Amino acid sequence: METSVLKVDPTNPESDVIGRAAAVIRSGGLVAFPTETVYGLGAKGLSAEAVAGIFNAKGRPSTNPLILHVSDASEVLNVAADWPATAQTLAARFWPGPLTLVVPKRDSVPHIVTAGGPTVAVRCPNHAVARALIRAAGVPLAAPSANRSTELSPTHAGHVLKGLNGRIAMVLDGGRCSGGLESTVVDVTGEIPRMLRPGLITVPMLEAVCGRVEVGAKSEGVARAPGQMAKHYSPRTPLALCATPTDALTSAARARAQGQNAWIMAPDSKEFDQLDEGADILSALPERYGAELYDVLHMIDGAEHDIVFVVLPPDTPEWAAVRDRLTRAAARE
Ligand code: AMP
Ligand code: MG
Repeated sequence: METSVLKVDPTNPESDVIGRAAAVIRSGGLVAFPTETVYGLGAKGLSAEAVAGIFNAKGRPSTNPLILHVSDASEVLNVAADWPATAQTLAARFWPGPLTLVVPKRDSVPHIVTAGGPTVAVRCPNHAVARALIRAAGVPLAAPSANRSTELSPTHAGHVLKGLNGRIAMVLDGGRCSGGLESTVVDVTGEIPRMLRPGLITVPMLEAVCGRVEVGAKSEGVARAPGQMAKHYSPRTPLALCATPTDALTSAARARAQGQNAWIMAPDSKEFDQLDEGADILSALPERYGAELYDVLHMIDGAEHDIVFVVLPPDTPEWAAVRDRLTRAAARE
């Protein structure tokens, strides 16, 4: 299959471009499109056959459920059997935006979307292209990140093509994603909301509007959230996590002394003031670091490093999403 790449204005999407993409979706095809988190790979979300195409193109295990994207909160009742008060509160505050809510599913949602489970994940993205495409398609879009399963998420159209060129019908190229990390996922089916995946919306931000939030998957819930597989978001180059800048500098020096091509990736700090090569130094601000992360990891994968020593940022709520992605990126299986 030839993948067509269409440029689209990220703030004022051209209606003819959106119309062409929506026609592909309506005919059961796959279109990658920009959101404020990462590029999504969209298909008609209520068609089991179209959604099967997503699993096929990504090589995604069928145990890993998908998020349904709506263009407006009023559309959730087409896919959710119940819309708890907490869902309403969180959606009112954070939608459109990088927050996914897990709620009981309606019968109209095919089992393939939810990995056979009784709940469905829904999100209203805050990106003009994503919302225009959902509206024009006239149905919620199932849309995981537009990459091969377990590989790095895409934050621009070039990343999408690296993994999926020839496997999908179309890419809408709307430039870079501003957020750069996948959405926060919160299960609101229980008494107390539970954050299943950290993202740009942090626990303190959630707790400010809905009170206490629990963190992490319940142990009996098998793969309730796809991003919970240990190995995920992974570059091909081995990553070794380090607690401090000094650890990374020492380990890299040792590896180089043994003839290895070692590299460092870290948030900016004074230890790196003197360093002018051998490292990617990212922002010391969590949001900016998050926006740069996948692009840097894609570049690292394009270089010939034997190993990359990655300095973990502090263990605070603002850095939780970044630490989560780095930990999974470093996991080997
Ligand atoms: P991605 O492949 O990045 O789009 O990830 C999809 C995300 O959706 C996963 O990380 C899960 O956290 C979440 N998800 C989708 N459906 C469900 C569900 N029914 N229950 C819990 N989490 C879900
Ligand atoms: Mg993904």
